[in-house]
Parts: sequence; structure tokens; C-alpha cells
Amino acid sequence: MRIAGRRITLETTGTIVVVHATVTLDRVVEACERRSTSLEDPGFCIDCGQEASQVEPDAREYRCESCGMYRVYGAEELLIMLA
Ligand SMILES: [Zn+2]
Repeated sequence: MRIAGRRITLETTGTIVVVHATVTLDRVVEACERRSTSLEDPGFCIDCGQEASQVEPDAREYRCESCGMYRVYGAEELLIMLA
């Protein structure tokens, strides 16, 4: 079953992306806090919702190890997108 995502327009490029419904602002905020309090580099795949590691804060369109799509964004980048 495909969960409906959230459509977001990237202001920098004007691109419309669909963010997986499980990638919520709460999750992203929590990931940003984790980055500042640990050595983790969290990010999220907006296509499948999987959390990724070793992702720079401003990363965009990295390859997702779970689904193979180039839809992994850094937590801080997502925070800007979702906020
Ligand atoms: Zn994925």
C-alpha cells in the first residue's frame, strides 16, 4: 500500500517533491537534535521514509540504501523543507 506523501515545492529550484508520510517534522527535529548531541549524521529518504546515516546536514538526492532511489536528504535540509 502506498502512503500518500506530502507535496513540497523546493524554493531554491522550484522542484516539486513528494515527501513520504512517515517523514514527519517531529522525526526530523529529533534527528537534528541527535546530530548536535552525538556523532550521528542522520538523514531521511523521502521516497520510502527510511532513515539514513552518514548524511551531511545539507545533503540532497543521495542514494537510499533501502530503496535505491536518489531521495536521501540531510535532516537539517529536510527541516528547512518541512518547516
Ligand atoms: Zn528510500
